[in-house]
Amino acid sequence: MEDCLFCKIAAGKIDTDFVYSDEKLVVFEDINPQAPVHLLIVPKKHISDLNNLEEKDNKLIGHIYQVAKELAAEKNIAESGYRIVSNCNQDGGQTVYHIHFHLLGGRKLQWPPG
Ligand code: 5GP
Ligand code: ZN
Repeated sequence: MEDCLFCKIAAGKIDTDFVYSDEKLVVFEDINPQAPVHLLIVPKKHISDLNNLEEKDNKLIGHIYQVAKELAAEKNIAESGYRIVSNCNQDGGQTVYHIHFHLLGGRKLQWPPG
């Protein structure tokens, strides 16, 4: 996906510091953080949004949650608490159409979200 921002970041074509990376995903800080900890967990594979997830992606999604849990511990928010969010389409607030998971923490988060 040549014109996809997160494909470019994941491929190292845009200078970005990765908090974590492996063969399946990259993690970096959100450019517009909404909490003291705001990381974006981004699969290297281009999937536009949650509606386009396939059964064969189940292992990848499980891996994302395992990495999120480990990063929450590293960032010292495991005990205080955190949130993992994936926004889907317009009403969900999605702005980048390459699936990603926000890891937010370090402050009391509102519920329900606005
Ligand atoms: P969404 O709105 O699709 O759920 O999340 C996209 C997120 O990507 C937003 O929180 C936005 O701040 C972040 N973002 C957009 N462009 C960039 C960028 O070039 N670099 C980084 N690090 N984050 C970005
Ligand atoms: Zn992409």
